[in-house]
Amino acid sequence: MFKKILVANRGEIALRIQRACRELGVKAVMVYSEADRDAKYVRLAEEAVCIGPAPSNLSYLNMPAIISAAEVTDAEAIHPGYGFLSENADFAERVEKSGFQFIGPTPESIRIMGDKVSAKQAMIKAGVPCVPGSEGELPDDPVQIRRIAKAVGYPVIIKAAGGGGGRGMRVVHTEAALINAVAMTKAEAGAAFGNPAVYMEKFLQNPRHIEIQILADKHKNAVYLGERDCSMQRRHQKILEEAPAPGINRKLIERIGERCVAACKKIGYRGAGTFEFLYEDGEFYFIEMNTRVQVEHPVTEMVTGVDIVKTQIMVAAGEKLPFAQRDIVMRGHAIECRVNAEDPYKFVPSPGRVTVWHAPGGPGVRVDSHIYTNYFVPPNYDSMVGKIIVHGDTREQAMARMRTALAETVIEGINTNIPLHRELLVDAKFMDGGTNIHYLEHWLEQHKR
Ligand code: ADP
Repeated sequence: MFKKILVANRGEIALRIQRACRELGVKAVMVYSEADRDAKYVRLAEEAVCIGPAPSNLSYLNMPAIISAAEVTDAEAIHPGYGFLSENADFAERVEKSGFQFIGPTPESIRIMGDKVSAKQAMIKAGVPCVPGSEGELPDDPVQIRRIAKAVGYPVIIKAAGGGGGRGMRVVHTEAALINAVAMTKAEAGAAFGNPAVYMEKFLQNPRHIEIQILADKHKNAVYLGERDCSMQRRHQKILEEAPAPGINRKLIERIGERCVAACKKIGYRGAGTFEFLYEDGEFYFIEMNTRVQVEHPVTEMVTGVDIVKTQIMVAAGEKLPFAQRDIVMRGHAIECRVNAEDPYKFVPSPGRVTVWHAPGGPGVRVDSHIYTNYFVPPNYDSMVGKIIVHGDTREQAMARMRTALAETVIEGINTNIPLHRELLVDAKFMDGGTNIHYLEHWLEQHKR
């Protein structure tokens, strides 16, 4: 096991990784920008290094600063968390070339999965079902593009090969709008992701977003830890997740989970990863793979009892997975609400000083958050300030616990989306389970204020 690792991230995930290190008896070096000087995990750290000013391109995205921090502190490995450099293959490569272990898959795996066209091709080869669409990148010839769209069938969605974070996508309903939409998505993709390549998929009308968590070691062992339902989204961003996914046949989940494990073995994948699928009419369609730990990993931890972050570190150190597939049992139900510093209905970010913070508690309640009373939420980063996660024997019990937890939570000084979560937890359709990816947007339309 490593003696010391460097945590190249901020916020709740930095704290989460620090906690995993404590449990493993590994020293964690924390890095921070000038805006995060007073962060809880920095105060709790045995060692912390300032890596630059507030803007992330000068700090959390600053590869030389992060690598030097690892050098001066004698860290052996770097945990990238999520976001920032976590899916940057060049970073992973530089980390390894500098003599550190990157806590994640190989740069090659990140590169293949980071390009959605090559990811889909790898998945098709590995026998994972994908959304029907263009076989690869779209050609330039408008005649060919029209022919592909006709074969796929309208509506179609044009997606950037290098896209992420819910950006770089455009739905097309008619042939008349096709060529222009392709040109616009290409231009945007070039500007936003430095890669103008786009591909086409059938636009599924009412899918759910279901994802499979996997863990793999360096010894060709891989397991899946069941699924998460992340259909509650606004602008393709998840806000509430749960496990297991209500109403989906367990046999179907097992089959798709086994396919994901087989794909991991085939591509030599190691570390934690997530296969994201759209699920419609009993069928799973792969859309992308995330080669890192995800925000919503706690719901899986709550139902399986597996510590995903600790396991990531263990397998990066070369250890074998401490469990086999037959040891993975999902127990009960878990729900996570992402707490964002924003207006609950207008979604305007609300950075600033937290004047009061009372975290919820009680049986089955977990809070992953770096905030505290008097903490200043900097305006420079993502608005998520924490996550409230609950576990219950049944979905009903988990919902009841979440309602209590949300009622107990007090955050003053900034706006948060907790009022929205409180309303969703008593919404009849949500309570029935199985709402699709458009549900929240429609709900917000109907509850406009
Ligand atoms: P990103 O990497 O930007 O998150 P994804 O490919 O994971 O992009 O897609 C994000 C979301 O966009 C999905 O969860 C879904 O809501 C929607 N989406 C993507 N592809 C399709 C499709 N073929 N049909 C319908 N919705 C889609």
